[in-house]
Amino acid sequence: MTAPRNPEPHPAEPFLTGRTALVTGAAGGIGSACVLALAGAGAAVRASDRDTAGLDALTERARGLPGTVLARPLDLRDLDAAEAAAAGADILVNNAGVQLVRPLHEFPPDAFHTVLTVMLEAPFRLIRGALPHMYARGWGRIVNLSSVHGLRASPFKAAYVAAKHGLEGLSKTAALEGAPHGVTSNCVNPGYVRTPLVEQQVADQAEAHGISREEVLEEIMLRETAVKRLAEPDEVAAAVLYLCGPRSGFVTGSSLTLDGGWTAH
Ligand code: NAD
Repeated sequence: MTAPRNPEPHPAEPFLTGRTALVTGAAGGIGSACVLALAGAGAAVRASDRDTAGLDALTERARGLPGTVLARPLDLRDLDAAEAAAAGADILVNNAGVQLVRPLHEFPPDAFHTVLTVMLEAPFRLIRGALPHMYARGWGRIVNLSSVHGLRASPFKAAYVAAKHGLEGLSKTAALEGAPHGVTSNCVNPGYVRTPLVEQQVADQAEAHGISREEVLEEIMLRETAVKRLAEPDEVAAAVLYLCGPRSGFVTGSSLTLDGGWTAH
């Protein structure tokens, strides 16, 4: 049986008015939800992605919110451009991600490199680019979209698991260095969220195992998830919004799991 989700919308208090945010992977499922939540709270959000059509659609959806959304097309594999894009941000949400599911002995080295570049080296460069302004302002919020796979491994996801474990270390280091400057750094660790990234994985696994989408969810993905459903992107965005807000100043170096009880086993 699928447990019902809490349908509450984000509170639209504009507590981030005057704050500038940069969200990477902004055209994606979780990224767009984060952009809308931050702009809903009054932030001026730079929405960055390589998917320019997705960014156009997102800026349309953001019309009428208390904050602003500015599309910032960027391929994070251009690491110098990534670092430059983060300059001046009070809030940085490292969200962009890619996934490839292959056994280790068949994992293409160039794909491993790409995953590590987008999901670990680019966040390092973005944090590096953001910190001088945050330190000068004496305030900053860094939120890194990690995963349950930042805390534990699954077979066939070597690059993803390695990148997310690395991101956990990067996030904690930024927390320790940033604390004297009023900068917090935390990870958010979702289980499976209903986004294009996961829909693709479901389709791939259904094809690989010759089973239906529903069987993939029930028998593979949600087997250990106590709340028997995928999370929705706005549920993840609500956690990100909390970590970007004024009431989370004592929360740093943490990894906040939103996994429907997966890691409670
Ligand atoms: P998504 O595929 O919907 O969005 C990812 C976005 O990243 C896309 O818009 C894509 O264009 C962008 N991107 C990828 N490579 C890029 C590059 N080189 N340069 C710029 N942008 C690039 O994925 P999502 O599910 O929303 O995932 C967002 C984050 O959340 C990822 O870091 C992912 O690992 C993490 N996460 C997702 C889930 C889940 O179940 N969906 C679970 C745990 C963690």
